[in-house]
Amino acid sequence: MASEKTQAIVLRVVEFSETSLVVTLFTEHFGKIGALAKGARRPKGPFEGALDLLALVRIVFLRKSSDALDLLTEAKLQRRFRSSQRDLSRLYAAYYVAELLSELTDNGDPHPELFALADETLLALDGGGPVAAAILRFELAALRLLGHAPSLAECVGCGRPVEGQTRVAFGLTAGGVLCPDCRPGQRQVASVSSEVIATLRRFAAAQDDDWRDLTIVERIRGELRGLWNNYLAHLVGRKLRMHEFLGSLAH
Ligand SMILES: [Zn+2]
Repeated sequence: MASEKTQAIVLRVVEFSETSLVVTLFTEHFGKIGALAKGARRPKGPFEGALDLLALVRIVFLRKSSDALDLLTEAKLQRRFRSSQRDLSRLYAAYYVAELLSELTDNGDPHPELFALADETLLALDGGGPVAAAILRFELAALRLLGHAPSLAECVGCGRPVEGQTRVAFGLTAGGVLCPDCRPGQRQVASVSSEVIATLRRFAAAQDDDWRDLTIVERIRGELRGLWNNYLAHLVGRKLRMHEFLGSLAH
């Protein structure tokens, strides 16, 4: 068995026995893993309370072959997600980041850039910045890194630019905007205001920290969230648990 070291975000914690936990971690170098943490429930256990949901930890683990759980041997806390005490919307948004990481990635499939993005997003959510913008940016950047970026400027059917309309057709199955010629016959098409698509385009195009200057105007917030929740549910294959809590993001 190889002993591996990496950073990780704690996505899920389940009680396994009187003294042990099973944790789902999104690691920097090994992608998502499931690991058994023996003794983690003992008051003075080997993990010193590091295995908190959404915490950033540095871990050592033994990789098991096939479907067996990996064995966690060390976890040192680097950063705890603290917002839970003062702002529920930040906590829900952070749970949602964890849910997306869990749903959109496979066990043992490494995505170091996605790890960095998630780490940065959790840090932003735990600070004082806007929540809705941080989430939208995370979703768009994560989809791009995982090869699911929707086409927001050119028609997914014919490649021509889709512009000059007040309402735009977005094909959930097709994976992007549709021009009036390509729309007929498409299944699962949502019709949204062009402002929703324009906002998505701005967020998708933002480099580095530029998204922090972008806003989602209040009047389209619900419509955008509706489209986006549908699109993501479509990709994952079912409704995401945290979506119902995102509608109420006030900032
Ligand atoms: Zn077209």
